[in-house]
Amino acid sequence: MAELEKDCLFCKIIRGEVPSYTVFENNDVKAFLDISQVTKGHTLIIPKKHLVNFFDYSQEDAARFLQYIPLVAQAIKKSDPTIKGMNVEVNNGEIAGQVVMHSHIHLIPRRGENDPIS
Ligand code: 5GP
Repeated sequence: MAELEKDCLFCKIIRGEVPSYTVFENNDVKAFLDISQVTKGHTLIIPKKHLVNFFDYSQEDAARFLQYIPLVAQAIKKSDPTIKGMNVEVNNGEIAGQVVMHSHIHLIPRRGENDPIS
């Protein structure tokens, strides 16, 4: 295993070495609840391949991994009728606010006026 993957927090989550609450998983991606929920159901989707961020993606990576964003977003919405919308966000690179250096997409459910502002 490459050194980067060995020490990567989200690779550890994929391997089950760090616990997480799984929302969706298949051979390509894992979606799990964010440890620090901006709103209830705040979910991260990550590729199982260790990619740092979108600057690291090939066209094939993009087609393979990003196709799951609508599917997971729809599943979350379906699970909770109070969800009216969702922020789909990416902090791409440290300067843009990326803290965990394994590509991830935030899905942040929005229910209405009482939602905290992220
Ligand atoms: P970033 O700022 O890199 O876009 O977002 C990283 C996200 O990972 C943050 O929202 C943070 O709460 C989440 N996070 C950090 N450590 C853990 C962890 O150990 N488990 C889970 N489930 N989420 C984490």
